[in-house]
Amino acid sequence: MADKMSVTSKILIYMVAGLLVGSLINATAAHTAWVQDYLVFGLFHVVGAMFISMLKMLVVPLVTFSLICGVCGIGDIGKLGRVGGKAFALFMLTTALAITLAITLATLFAPGAGFELASASTSAFTAPQAPPLSQVFIDLIPSNPVAAYAEGNMLQIIFFTILFAVCILMIGERGQVIIDLVERLNDVMMQVVNVVMHLAPIGVFALMAKTFSLQGLDIIIPMLGYFGVLVLALLLHLTGTLMLLLRILGRVNPLIFLKKMRTAQIFAFSTSSSNATIPVTLTSVEKKLGVDNSTASFIVPFGATINMDGTAIMQGVATVFIANVYGIDLGLTGYLTVIAMSVLASIGTAGVPGVGLIMLAMVFNQVGLPVEGIALIIGVDRLLDMIRTAVNVTGDAAITTIVARSEKSIDMDVFNDPNAGATEQDINMPSVQGAK
Ligand code: ASP
Repeated sequence: MADKMSVTSKILIYMVAGLLVGSLINATAAHTAWVQDYLVFGLFHVVGAMFISMLKMLVVPLVTFSLICGVCGIGDIGKLGRVGGKAFALFMLTTALAITLAITLATLFAPGAGFELASASTSAFTAPQAPPLSQVFIDLIPSNPVAAYAEGNMLQIIFFTILFAVCILMIGERGQVIIDLVERLNDVMMQVVNVVMHLAPIGVFALMAKTFSLQGLDIIIPMLGYFGVLVLALLLHLTGTLMLLLRILGRVNPLIFLKKMRTAQIFAFSTSSSNATIPVTLTSVEKKLGVDNSTASFIVPFGATINMDGTAIMQGVATVFIANVYGIDLGLTGYLTVIAMSVLASIGTAGVPGVGLIMLAMVFNQVGLPVEGIALIIGVDRLLDMIRTAVNVTGDAAITTIVARSEKSIDMDVFNDPNAGATEQDINMPSVQGAK
C-alpha cells in the first residue's frame, strides 16, 4: 500500500537519524552529565542492548529448526556434502581474493609511511590468546550439545543439527512426525523474526545514536590514510569482486542482489555482528532472493562463522600499515603468510563485534609484527567494524546465491521480483486474524 513505508526504508531513516543525533551529542554534549547518564548510557544503551539481545535470541532456534527442515528437505546426503564443499571452497576463495586486493591497494597507497608514532593514541593493546588450529578442528564436535546450544557455538550447533537431521531421515517413516513438527516450529520462528523486524527501526536508532555519541568522527583525521585505503578496498570488494562472481559464476543480476541485501547490510552495520544478523540474512536470502531453504539454512550460518571478507581486508591493510609505521619490510613470503593466516584465522573465529582484532593479533604473531602496534588502529576500529561486517554479510549471501544457482535451488522469479519478501510487513495479529 502506498501509505505503508517498507520496513527497510523505515530502518534506513531511523539509522540516519540515530547517526545525526549521536554525532550532534558528540559535538555539543560530550561532557554534559545528564545527556550522558540518561540518554547515551541510559535510554540509547538500554534500548540498543535489548535489541541486540532480541536478535541473538532468534539465532539458535531459527538456525536449528531451519537447518533440520533444510536437511530433511534435501533428503539426499550426497547433495548436502556437495553444497557444503562448494560453499567452503568459495568462502576460502573470496577471503583470499579480498585480502590480496587489500594488500595490493595498501602497498600502492602506502598508508603509515612517515606516520608520527607520537601523535597516535597509545592505549595499550594486550594480545589475546588465539586457539591453535588443531583445537579449531577438535572444537567442531560438541562434547555436550546442550552446552553448544547454550553458548550459541555456531559450528558445533551446525554439526550436531545436521547429524540429528540426517538421522531423522535414516529412521524413515517414523521420523515424519518430527519433520512435520519442526516445520511448524520453523514457521513460528519466522513469525518471531517478523515481529522483531517491526521493532528494528527503534533498535537501530538507539544503537547508532549511542555509537556516534561516543565515537566522534574527528578520530578518523590522524588515521585518514589507513581509514581511506581500508574503506576503498571494502568498497571495491563489495562492488567489484563479489558482483563479478555473482555475474560470472552465479549468472544473476548483481544490482538486484545488492538492492535486496540492503536490510541485512543495515543490520550488520548497526550491530557489527554477522552472527546477530543471521536471522535477517537468512530471511533476505530465502524470501527476497528466492534461495531454497535447504541451501540457505546451511550456508548462511556457516558463512557467518567462517567467511569474513571484510575482516580479511582489514587485516591486509592493517598489516601493511603497521609494517610501514614500524619500518619493517615483510617481503613476499611475509605477505603470503598473512594471506594464508587470515584465511585460516577466519575459520576458527565467530562473527561477533571486534573479533577482527583478535585475528589480527594471530596474524601479527605469525609474521613477527609488533602486536602492540594494534593499539594504533584500535581507535577507529569500532567504525570500521561496522562497515566490514556489512561486507562480511554480503559475502555470505553472495556465496549462498552462487551455490544455490549451481544446484538449481533458487527461484529466479522470486529473485527478479522487486516486491518479493515484502511479507515482512504482514504480521497477523491473533485478534485481526480472519478479519480479512
Ligand atoms: N564484527 C565482524 C563480524 O561479525 C567481525 C570483525 O571483523 O570483527 O562479522
